[in-house]
Amino acid sequence: MKNLKRLFKLLKNLLLGLLVTLVLVLLVIFAKPLWHRFVTYPRFQKQVEVFQQRKKEVQLPTSLKIYRGLLHLHSYWSHDSKGTLYDLVSAAKLRNINFLFLTDHPHGNLDSFPRGYKGLYDGVLIEPGSEKEDFVSWPMDTTVIDWKINKDTISKRLVNNGGMIFYSHTEIPHNWDNQFFQGMEIYNFHTNVLEKTRTFPILTDFLINGSKYRAWAYRTIFDRQTRILARWDSLNRYRHVVGFSAVDEHENINFRARYLKDGRVQWMGINTKPIDTVKVSFLNRWMFHEPDQSGWIFKWMIINTYETSFNNSVNYLFADTLTVPNISHHLILGHHFTAFKSLADATGFCYYAEGQDGKMAGMMGDSVKVASVRKLTAVSPYPGRFTLIRDGKTVDVSAADQYQYSFDRSLPKGTYRLEVEVKPGDEWLPWIYTNPIYIY
Ligand SMILES: [Zn+2]
Repeated sequence: MKNLKRLFKLLKNLLLGLLVTLVLVLLVIFAKPLWHRFVTYPRFQKQVEVFQQRKKEVQLPTSLKIYRGLLHLHSYWSHDSKGTLYDLVSAAKLRNINFLFLTDHPHGNLDSFPRGYKGLYDGVLIEPGSEKEDFVSWPMDTTVIDWKINKDTISKRLVNNGGMIFYSHTEIPHNWDNQFFQGMEIYNFHTNVLEKTRTFPILTDFLINGSKYRAWAYRTIFDRQTRILARWDSLNRYRHVVGFSAVDEHENINFRARYLKDGRVQWMGINTKPIDTVKVSFLNRWMFHEPDQSGWIFKWMIINTYETSFNNSVNYLFADTLTVPNISHHLILGHHFTAFKSLADATGFCYYAEGQDGKMAGMMGDSVKVASVRKLTAVSPYPGRFTLIRDGKTVDVSAADQYQYSFDRSLPKGTYRLEVEVKPGDEWLPWIYTNPIYIY
């Protein structure tokens, strides 16, 4: 009897010890994400909301309209995405996005266009393109790309035929001497993720904060792409290379389920890989809801969603009309800047060169004669800190919290671009990267 009591006591202590250890281990693993959840992110959310109340109306120096768009993202056509038209258009409408230039991975060496989604859907312009070997392209024509051919030759043919070629994933080597590529990514969310030596903290942060503070979990990963920006600056010293940002969104780090034709349920995991096919039974029925617009009966979004990334790094383009020829025309000219929209919507911002007559002599992306420029100017709907960079070197930093910026000191020939930071909380955060003005 005494021995039995002792055994029970031992077992009780062992179980208690195990429980305490488990709680401690979980606390260590989730301490930071929980701190984010209950302290850092709610505080930052509040700070951003207060900052966004400082919005002012801006008088734009151009009659061109502003269109917001994404230039590197994937839909169902890619092997690693299942994004439907409904998913894309509803997220775009929610985030006030006007154009989506898709970059779906080709199915084989012969890649025929158009393919996938193309057209104007509920006010959202969609154009199909391709991403292969860190090269994004939009032929904008009925054509076939043969991916067996040398990439430089493909670029030449596409561009000569009115297509558009940009380099993606610019942290890795590319043929920078290829004269036909027109632009490059200056920010890609994936680069930020790949740079991190430990992915587990990213995962735990999204697991705890994904539903409520996904946008700030994205921000936590953000790092300024100094090396990529330096590359861009060095290229722009001797040719025009347009800079754009990419979300590279696949909406594929998640778990989903859908009915198959035979009534069974297919489970799908990371990168849209099928995991299992099961029968519906009383054991799993409770997990499923009626099929949504895209056919999903279960959806657990862990990290990346269209909704969040369409509010992350967004390209703001000045153009005349929401048509593929006009949008692509202005994209190639570099009449755009990129902004982190979750911090503040940058609609209304413009960076331009003012002529001797006080009127706009050219905007970002344009080349302007040195004799005809009086000053470089920017207007902004939110107060920020402006940094002017000439040929890769900082030449001026404005005072804090300015809605306007102008630089009227001597303007030697060179490539001038502007970065704007905002300070919703305790630190200055990169908000805008403009394309340069080329003064010659
Ligand atoms: Zn991609």
